Amino acid sequence: MEILFIIVPIFIGCMFIFTFGMILSPTLRSKFMGHQLKMQKRMLEDNKDVIQDLGKLTGEIGVKTTKGIMDENEDDLRHISSKGADIASDGITKTVRAIKKGMSDAGDVYCKHCGESIDSDSTFCKACGKKQ
Ligand SMILES: [Zn+2]
Repeated sequence: MEILFIIVPIFIGCMFIFTFGMILSPTLRSKFMGHQLKMQKRMLEDNKDVIQDLGKLTGEIGVKTTKGIMDENEDDLRHISSKGADIASDGITKTVRAIKKGMSDAGDVYCKHCGESIDSDSTFCKACGKKQ
């Protein structure tokens, strides 16, 4: 039990020294990173075939699973996508209506001749009587 009181602080101390060394010394850092990269590269090269097979297998399973899910739920998916289109078209219609309304609300109409504010649908100015 007492040994832990020696080992743990030494371990933590080493971690500190290592971390500070990594932060402070670019040489140490690049050396360590280079070593790690080399290790990873070697590992990848050693297991190239396995990794390729695994990737292929994972891809195949993914495609099969997705296809299976889509086949099993074809009707639901079709329903959801058509509902989605309905919702989208409704939203778009509402937005367009709101924009049109906003534009007509903001677009006050003035007489071309005297500049008096007039109704947007009036043919003659109510102030000067001239045709718009
Ligand atoms: Zn006028």
